[in-house]
Amino acid sequence: MKIRTDFVSLWQSVKQMGAKERDFTFDIVNSQDLEIDDQLERGIEIKLDDLETTGGLLSYKGRQILLYIPDQGRSISDVLADPEKGRKFHVADCRTLNDMRGKGRFERYVITNELSGIFKVSGQDPYSGYVEGESQLRVCKNCLSYLNYQGYQTEPGSRVGIYKGFTLDSFFKTYSTKFRYLPKRNTNRKGAYSDDWAEVSKNFRASKNWTCEECRVDLSDARNLLHTHHDDGNKHNNVPSNLVALCIDCHRKQAMHDSMEVSRGDMETILKLRGNQGLLDDLSDWGEVLALIDTAYDGVTRKIMRTARALPEVDGDIQNAKGEIVITPHLSWPGKKYAIVDDEKELQILASVGWRGETVENVLKQ
Ligand SMILES: [Zn+2]
Ligand SMILES: [Zn+2]
Ligand SMILES: [Zn+2]
Repeated sequence: MKIRTDFVSLWQSVKQMGAKERDFTFDIVNSQDLEIDDQLERGIEIKLDDLETTGGLLSYKGRQILLYIPDQGRSISDVLADPEKGRKFHVADCRTLNDMRGKGRFERYVITNELSGIFKVSGQDPYSGYVEGESQLRVCKNCLSYLNYQGYQTEPGSRVGIYKGFTLDSFFKTYSTKFRYLPKRNTNRKGAYSDDWAEVSKNFRASKNWTCEECRVDLSDARNLLHTHHDDGNKHNNVPSNLVALCIDCHRKQAMHDSMEVSRGDMETILKLRGNQGLLDDLSDWGEVLALIDTAYDGVTRKIMRTARALPEVDGDIQNAKGEIVITPHLSWPGKKYAIVDDEKELQILASVGWRGETVENVLKQ
């Protein structure tokens, strides 16, 4: 969903003016923010009633989080031997969390945005007493189902693979556009590239006319959003046949790119350019919709495609009587004046121009 604020257009103009060849991030240096990030990385104890949600995901002060319970009780030794026996961590406002809320049970709940997947656990072992250790706890299946993550709910045949292949890196990446602040990641992999990489990459992208070879978006005006990808994964194999020019959105969807997240501003730029260049017109099937839409909408798209009769418009602008764009939903059906949007506020915007709609959260709950 595009949020139209001065802040976003400022980002875009800054990029268009100066940031053509360099990747740079807009670090908002604010000591309070840094403190929140540090605390979250270590883990913050929280009451279930204080948990915030964003589109069904768990959130805390503009950040995506997960929730886990360190206390494994009498099973602690079993959990240390086999993480599958541990209490699952949660990534969504799932049924289990709702049950726990309803029971009003007192537990130590911890939220974090540390993505290693290794959790500090403890418990009272019947034989050896209090035990502490680390465990690679597993994800809650009700969370995956609720979000229809990668089609977990609607494509039962792929459930085992989705559960077994789950990584927090990939999960957080999927929803990176929904949060203002992104978690710290160990992405310092500069050394992996050859010394002349900057030059090789620039020349290669220029030879492709700054166009993504997957979705065909022309990024001449936002060159830092076009990457050079190594087909075989070997970052030293720079022969042209091994290189592919990909926009950051198509790039993050490649295998083994679990930590490549896209900011909300960058995704908006790409979707806007795709739209302006006619790449979102006349989509022929749901596969195309899934390939082009923001990945944060993947689960909800897979859910509605079972029942929707017509293909949606992806990122189509909705205008008011004066012809001003009031909102640009990721999924809309102009013929029916119906759209799926992020929240109640956006439902009101739809209503103001005579449209109806549903929030992502509501679609997921159905
Ligand atoms: Zn859950
Ligand atoms: Zn692309
Ligand atoms: Zn790549």
